[in-house]
Amino acid sequence: MTIHIGVLALQGAVEEHIRSLRRIGAEAVPVKRVEQLGELHGLVIPGGESTTIGKLMRKYGFIEAIRRFAADGKPIFGTCAGLIVLAKRIEGGEEPHLGLMDMTVVRNAFGRQRESFETDLEVAGIDRPIRAVFIRAPLIKEVGPGVEVLSVYRGEIVAARQGRLLACSFHPELTDDSALHAYFVAMAEEAAASGSGAK
Ligand code: GLN
Repeated sequence: MTIHIGVLALQGAVEEHIRSLRRIGAEAVPVKRVEQLGELHGLVIPGGESTTIGKLMRKYGFIEAIRRFAADGKPIFGTCAGLIVLAKRIEGGEEPHLGLMDMTVVRNAFGRQRESFETDLEVAGIDRPIRAVFIRAPLIKEVGPGVEVLSVYRGEIVAARQGRLLACSFHPELTDDSALHAYFVAMAEEAAASGSGAK
């Protein structure tokens, strides 16, 4: 079965995610209209600028549509700004966007000197370290009981999963390593097999 993954294409690193997904054999398309969601088994919300992505999501009706998508049991993967968009709480009192994942996030959390850096990270569920690129990255300050921590970097949570929601602070699409994309596609495969895939 071919898995169809959409990449929300309002702003941010869209093409890079599409390339990473195609590399592992998934069908990947940019998503610009809410009507496209019905054809998908999973959705990636890319990195970029979360305030801008959130604003455009409100403008084009994506907030409600993506909440329904999640309620239908379809997987969503938020990377960097996409992680912020998924969070229920943004430190500093900023209005949450989708408010789906039970976690508090801190934007631009790694300080100025470490604005952008690369490292090898252990991620639960992936059998070898993956290369991770951090760019003005957020961190996950705390998670609710239903959230599983998948990766910690220097004491900070940088990847987590809540059921069919997956989030990471870094940019997995900026390396040749598609391991985390493969992890997400497997989530979408599983969801599709259990009856919540695209019709
Ligand atoms: N700093 C951005 C934000 O707060 C996220 C950065 C990224 O996606 N690379 O929205």
